[in-house]
Amino acid sequence: MTTKTISHWVDGKSFVGTSTKTAPVTNPATGEVTAQVALASVEDTRAAIDAAAAAFPAWRDTSLAKRVQILFKFRELLNERKPELAKIITSEHGKVLDDALGEVTRGQEVVEFACGIPHLLKGGMTENASTKVDVFSIRQPIGPVAAISPFNFPAMVPMWFFPIAIATGNTVVLKPSEKDPSAAIWMAELWAEAGLPAGVFNVLQGDKTSVDELLTNSGIKAISFVGSTPIAQYVYNTGTAHGKRVQALGGAKNHMVVLPDADLDLAADAAVNAGFGSAGERCMAISALVAVGGVGDELVAKINERAKTIKTGDGTKGCDMGPLVTKQHRDKVASYVDAGEADGATIALDGRQVQPDGGENGFWLGPTVIDNVTPDMSVYTDEIFGPVLSVLRVESYDDALELINSNPYGNGTAIFTNDGGAARRFQNEVEVGMVGINVPIPVPMAYYSFGGWKSSLFGDTHAHGAEGIHFFTRGKVITERWLDPSHGGLNLGFPQSH
Ligand code: NAD
Repeated sequence: MTTKTISHWVDGKSFVGTSTKTAPVTNPATGEVTAQVALASVEDTRAAIDAAAAAFPAWRDTSLAKRVQILFKFRELLNERKPELAKIITSEHGKVLDDALGEVTRGQEVVEFACGIPHLLKGGMTENASTKVDVFSIRQPIGPVAAISPFNFPAMVPMWFFPIAIATGNTVVLKPSEKDPSAAIWMAELWAEAGLPAGVFNVLQGDKTSVDELLTNSGIKAISFVGSTPIAQYVYNTGTAHGKRVQALGGAKNHMVVLPDADLDLAADAAVNAGFGSAGERCMAISALVAVGGVGDELVAKINERAKTIKTGDGTKGCDMGPLVTKQHRDKVASYVDAGEADGATIALDGRQVQPDGGENGFWLGPTVIDNVTPDMSVYTDEIFGPVLSVLRVESYDDALELINSNPYGNGTAIFTNDGGAARRFQNEVEVGMVGINVPIPVPMAYYSFGGWKSSLFGDTHAHGAEGIHFFTRGKVITERWLDPSHGGLNLGFPQSH
């Protein structure tokens, strides 16, 4: 019997709220329901927005020196205690512990980036733009902002946003995925320990009800969303229609092109790592392998050889790959394998038969390789988000490029080759936001910005780096003079320099 309820964090403390609606949280490796998560009502959502609004005036006026001290403290606590957070992630998401730790570390890098905020927020200044007139530019926070995150990175994706939002003087309401809600609460407690004033960082557990209130309530000034494409589009349309700044990152279908001159052993290692890491539940996972000019047979053989050695099981037991997040998702992913088979593709490695090292009710699916996939099959057209690698065979580099550029998604892609000229053409011609050259998962560092093209991102601002600073601030330009007699006289013409 489960009694634990995971609730919200509002105004510096745990907040139960008025809603009695909950959703189950499961341990994917055992299938056990471990807790219920509260699903916020509109009233509960308003309480979180009000707390963020009340904290904003004082936080926006808190000196950069003080903000940075708190950020450094948060970074130190996170660095010391990240194994605790990794354990929480594994227990609700299912990814193996090492991978969970890697997720936290990549999030921590954004905290470290945000620690440099005094430098990042410096404006420009022009002396004597007109006679004895100076002009300068500053960037100011925009107010209470919301971040709405997906299940697959319950710590890293929120950390793409909140360290920068907070560093730049905004207050935050985070609405994590209801599938793995505990990481957000752990991070909220850490912020309190680091000395962040109450109300600057709030966590609201919930579903569509709370998201809709965040999208339409005038108290929220900007929305950072990450999730599937249909919801990203909905969030972008609704949020912008309500006058908010929105960045909405969506789904993906990431291609890895292998040219005939590539080292096929290294390419096979990369395809396996990028296809099956985190059970393929990464928006930067490789899900479509494009074998160019006859390398297909040898490459698939090498991939199978490696993928067969992957130990699927409980993420706390030293396995390579964990379960999928829910039973429903596991069954949906398996149904794509069935569909690929029915469509005439070759199931080169069948994860439906996996013998996991984990609970018999866990949500298991082993590494699956589907060969001879064609662009019309659902295993190719849809984002599967599981450990399923589809192999497509094409004649030439141009065919590979055409395939990728015709795909509606444009999140990440990679090319494997030793030909610098081909790699350079690819980097120039491919219509995708993040490109790897012999790097299968080209996730940008925190000081660059993360984001895809086409249906993988709605809005024009990517996450973190310079674009993150830009998103969470707005520009102001001040034109200043200190009056003396030379400034006298009437002139109704449009201001011009002299
Ligand atoms: P999801 O779209 O189901 O949910 C994302 C968030 O939206 C959650 O907080 C959820 O509660 C909320 N939500 C769900 N349905 C909603 C609705 N109808 N109205 C309002 N809010 C709703 O996504 P998910 O399954 O949690 O995450 C996986 C997806 O996220 C994949 O498509 C993956 O590619 C994508 N993703 C993209 C990136 C990226 O950077 N582009 C990164 C990580 C994940």
